[in-house]
Amino acid sequence: RSAPLVGRLVVVGLGLIGGSFAKGLRERGMCREVVGVDLDAESRRLAVQLGVVDRCESELAAACVGADVIMLAVPILAMEKVLAQLADLDLGAAVLTDAGSAKGNVVRAARRALGERFARFVPGHPIAGSEKSGVEAANGKLYRRHKVILTPLAETDAGALALVDGLWRALDADVEHMSVEHHDEVLAATSHLPHLLAFGLVDSLAHQSENLEIFRYAAGGFRDFTRIAGSDPLMWHDIFLANREAVLRILDRFRSDLDVLREAVDRGDGHHLLGVFTRARVAREHFS
Ligand code: NAD
Repeated sequence: RSAPLVGRLVVVGLGLIGGSFAKGLRERGMCREVVGVDLDAESRRLAVQLGVVDRCESELAAACVGADVIMLAVPILAMEKVLAQLADLDLGAAVLTDAGSAKGNVVRAARRALGERFARFVPGHPIAGSEKSGVEAANGKLYRRHKVILTPLAETDAGALALVDGLWRALDADVEHMSVEHHDEVLAATSHLPHLLAFGLVDSLAHQSENLEIFRYAAGGFRDFTRIAGSDPLMWHDIFLANREAVLRILDRFRSDLDVLREAVDRGDGHHLLGVFTRARVAREHFS
């Protein structure tokens, strides 16, 4: 255990992501006090009972008194409202950060709401999670050896950035910094598009099949490909509304490549198919 990095940490939204951040820092003694806020009374009760936080408040204003760091881990589409509420509070020199899965829309909302205080807002996104959600799933080791992307802006205060960076490193995360635009492009390609394809494929097959009979014949490949269609529909609905432009760009590129594959199947062009499949296998070997 090292000395605490911060005095009072406030975590807004005690689900899987906020709960795991709070619990991990608390377990490692990184904060003198961890205060939780959540709209849901049962989540607040469980957060205290499971040792995720020291105490909870139902009101944001009460929780943020004397805060040194405020982590926003609410659903993406709730960020704007929470940021607007924070703008009305006296937060002193508190550092603000978030964990939203898309960054452009959260950054725009923060810039609008926070005014001069925007410099103390450090946008972030932990690339970790699971199909589980809620405070019961909070796990202090969730972020170990996972990437966390911080997307500071030109005006982001260097001290605020270093503090948030240090908190994630204390959780053994592998922290990287990149631009908001690059983050949203990369995540649209590697996370958002695959989720859209998995949800879309399962739904398409389900409504073509009487009583879901077709799934009785699904083998390992289908299970692997569609595992992520078991993710939280509400969270994903938020992500596609928040990251529309980047998702549309990659989706259109993918659609045109899919059309080329369709044409190759149509004209029985084995040479083309073999070329695509071989290139894909080689590319995949680079990251697996
Ligand atoms: P979750 O559903 O498990 O938890 C969200 C919590 O926020 C709930 O307890 C809910 O009651 C609370 N909440 C909602 N509106 C609120 C408000 N206005 N004020 C206070 N509390 C409020 O969700 P999660 O999976 O922990 O996701 C939280 C954030 O982290 C989202 O922005 C999401 O995009 C991001 N994220 C999720 C994952 C993942 O895989 N789950 C990964 C990386 C980032």
